[in-house]
Amino acid sequence: MARTDAIVLGAGIVGTSAALHLRARGLSVALIDRQAPGEGTSFGNAGVIEGSALLPVSFPRNLGTLVAHALKLSAQSNYNLAALPALAPWLLAYFRASAPAMQASIGRDLRPLMALSRAEHHALAGPAGAMGLLTPTGWVKVYDRQADLDATALERRLADELGVAYTVLDPAGVKALEPALNPGLAGGVHWHDCDNVSDPGGLVKAYAALFESRGGLLLTGDARSLRRSGEAWRVETAEGPVDAKVVVVALGPWSLDVLKPLRLPAPVPLAVKRGYHVHFAPLPGKGLSRAVVDRAGGFSLQWTKGGIRATTGIEFARREDPPTDIQVRRVIAHVRKRLPVGDVVATAPWLGCRPAFPDSKPMIGAAPGLPGVFLDFGHSHWGLTLGPVSGRLLADLVTGATPFTDPAPFAPTRFSRA
Ligand SMILES: Cc1cc2nc3c(=O)[nH]c(=O)nc-3n(C[C@H](O)[C@H](O)[C@H](O)COP(=O)(O)OP(=O)(O)OC[C@H]3O[C@@H](n4cnc5c(N)ncnc54)[C@H](O)[C@@H]3O)c2cc1C
Repeated sequence: MARTDAIVLGAGIVGTSAALHLRARGLSVALIDRQAPGEGTSFGNAGVIEGSALLPVSFPRNLGTLVAHALKLSAQSNYNLAALPALAPWLLAYFRASAPAMQASIGRDLRPLMALSRAEHHALAGPAGAMGLLTPTGWVKVYDRQADLDATALERRLADELGVAYTVLDPAGVKALEPALNPGLAGGVHWHDCDNVSDPGGLVKAYAALFESRGGLLLTGDARSLRRSGEAWRVETAEGPVDAKVVVVALGPWSLDVLKPLRLPAPVPLAVKRGYHVHFAPLPGKGLSRAVVDRAGGFSLQWTKGGIRATTGIEFARREDPPTDIQVRRVIAHVRKRLPVGDVVATAPWLGCRPAFPDSKPMIGAAPGLPGVFLDFGHSHWGLTLGPVSGRLLADLVTGATPFTDPAPFAPTRFSRA
């Protein structure tokens, strides 16, 4: 039997970063996953460290858009009808949190984390020898219609208020930035404060290797074996049981698998926003220098080691529902209109589950009623971005240091107050 100061459950970007931060505070730490690091949701995302992120992805609030989503005419979303009754309360809360004033308030809550997100990555990627996976060229959101570009006004006003850098582009500006894109765009917005990651899963593996090189224990085990053992918590691993007084649940979309049996005495309304990726073979001279997001087309494009990665919008379904192909088929067609690309790389589309709360903010802090248990999950569309900076806040809270920012917006008790 091994004993450490802390156990971190889940070796995605969030858990691996938390383990590194706890280790940096001098704690002995076991990082436990049932598979290799970076093989869950953190494997297949769009690879953008979004230091400039402001407004969460919202639930449509005008009737026309809502009807298009309901009729499955929008490229941005899909849903499994059978999953909706159980999801209805979550969707209602998401709808409420998508009011413009609420969105701006969420953006302000998240800003202290977003503002540090790239620096926190660089502080890990440097010593992990992974800076070569990052390209600091920002990302560009492009729009077919002038009305959609004009509708970014709310986001740009918030950017001006909070000092987030961007450039509005006319069609020539978009062309100058990304010459390979086909003509026909009304314009775009270049958000400068982002890194592009060519291999998000590889980045997590590099961070996990850094954790081991700094004396951390990386173990294979099933987090669902977590149980009380005297004054400590115990998890079974392939290397035997591990005990610790502190346990961090960082299991992303699987976090409730562990928390439900522990009967956490507070609501934890976690749902999944599923998303897919496919890769296209790039054509000579038709590459991209940064992520390109086309919201109306329902996709983002990123240059990755597997090819040009196209990721889809949101699918509301149960975590374990079988994959569908409606969004992927649409995205393939839309991408071909936007960028000259080669064949789709012949592997099945990858499916990931964004772990999401209705207010799009993660839960970071002590679990009420469960001494020694800390939560660090629910990073929604921003887990790659926020993993390392969340790890810093989590480590502040675990060790009793003064938190670098107010943790109240991320409190695990916040839905009890709602
Ligand atoms: C299509 C798509 C595009 C995205 N694009 C971006 C982007 O550009 N930028 C961004 O910031 N974010 C993006 N995201 C979101 C981001 O990928 C997630 O928020 C993030 O990966 C969540 O990380 P995590 O560590 O919480 O979860 P995960 O990476 O899923 O890690 C959880 C870990 O828990 C382990 N686990 C589960 N159950 C058990 C168990 N019983 N026992 C042991 N281990 C277990 C899993 O194996 C896994 O390794 C995107 C997501 C998707 C789906």
